[in-house]
This record gives sequence, C-alpha cells and structure tokens, in this order.
Amino acid sequence: MINNVEPRKTMNSPDDTSLLVVIAHPDDECLGAGGTIASHAKQGIDVDLLCLTGNPVRNRELEEAAKILGVRNLLTMERDDFAIDRGLENRVVEAILQWRPKSIITHSEIDYNRNHVACANIVLDAIEWASHVTQFERAHRVDRVYQMEVNTLLSKPNVMINVTDSYDTALEALRCHKSQMDKADGYYERFYDARTRLRGVQSACDRAEAFCISLPKHAGPFYPKNCTDRLE
Ligand SMILES: [Zn+2]
Repeated sequence: MINNVEPRKTMNSPDDTSLLVVIAHPDDECLGAGGTIASHAKQGIDVDLLCLTGNPVRNRELEEAAKILGVRNLLTMERDDFAIDRGLENRVVEAILQWRPKSIITHSEIDYNRNHVACANIVLDAIEWASHVTQFERAHRVDRVYQMEVNTLLSKPNVMINVTDSYDTALEALRCHKSQMDKADGYYERFYDARTRLRGVQSACDRAEAFCISLPKHAGPFYPKNCTDRLE
C-alpha cells in the first residue's frame, strides 16, 4: 500500500477561510466541481458561488442545485450564455472583496467552450485586481486558483479531489438543471459518471474530480504579503 497516492480530501487546510466558485453557466458548477463543492460544504468549509450568465428558468434550477450542494451564498445574473465580456470583471472583483475566499475554483483556459475560456481569463484578472492595495482599502489576496474540467478533459491535472462520498449529492444537484439535461438525452449524466470514474482510477479511489492549480500573479509592491518564508 503506497500511502502517498491517497487523493486529497480538501483543498484548504482546516484554518483556511472560504472557497469561491465562479462559473460561466448554470450547471457548470455541478459538471466541473459538484462533488468537490458538496464535500467541502459537508466538511464545514463555506462555499460561495457566482454565475456570470443565466435567465429566470436556469437561475431557479441553479438555486435548487446550490442548495443541494450546500452552497452558502449564490449570486446569479441574467445574461445570455455567450455574453461574457470584460464588463463582468468588476462583479468578480466585488465578490472576492466581499467573500474574501482563500481559494477559487473556475474554468480552465484550455477548454473548447469559448465562454468558459472567457470566464477563466476574467477571473484570473479579477484576482490580481482585487489584491491591489492601491485600489482597495481592504484588498484581498486569493492564494490558489483551481481550474476545473467540464467537457474538455485536462491533459495534465495536478490535483484530484476524492468525491466518492459526495457523488450522489452532486448527481442529484446536476439533475436540477432540467432544462439542460432534457436537451442532451442523458449525455451530461453519462459524461459526469464516466469522467469521475476515470479520475477515480487515476487517483486510487472510486470517484474523483480533477483540477489544475494556477497561482495568482503578484509581482510588484502593490500587493499584501508579497513574500513567504518557505515554499508551500
Ligand atoms: Zn458552461
């Protein structure tokens, strides 16, 4: 038995603060990180969720899903699926300054879906801006960004979260997105099932979700705590 291949259960150590999830569309939270959100909430870590697009039907579905996953705060918007532009960066900055997350989960910049890529780039820029002490009296520095996979598999993930115990909750939440599930004839459920099993095989557990870590860029005199004493 090799103990050091045991997948991690949490992204944050116990004394860390909250986790913020920023997604392009209602349902991305379940497909990319449903098990991870549910397991963190169950472990007592506050999870907040910001969705950059939506409409009344999809936002209602998202509210139901978020409740099942155990999300603390949910911020929705009414905006077309494709209307993700730089104007949204300030909303992400506001969410960071208000909820002050230790870590953020968002999309990967390497994703076939251009809206997911746009969301990832907005979030990465917002993280830098929110930590700018010249701009904000209570600037906040996010420590880690975890980029998730939705329908495009990450080729080199470096964090696997064990979602064996939270998979059923994540699937129940995914099924709240009825308007999307009905369109796709079981595709999303089957894909999420197969993907979490594949990642489980790779990380010596039944089911897992995969992420790439990306570290925020903070080079210069404009940020709080710009150095550390040791490598983490
Ligand atoms: Zn999406």
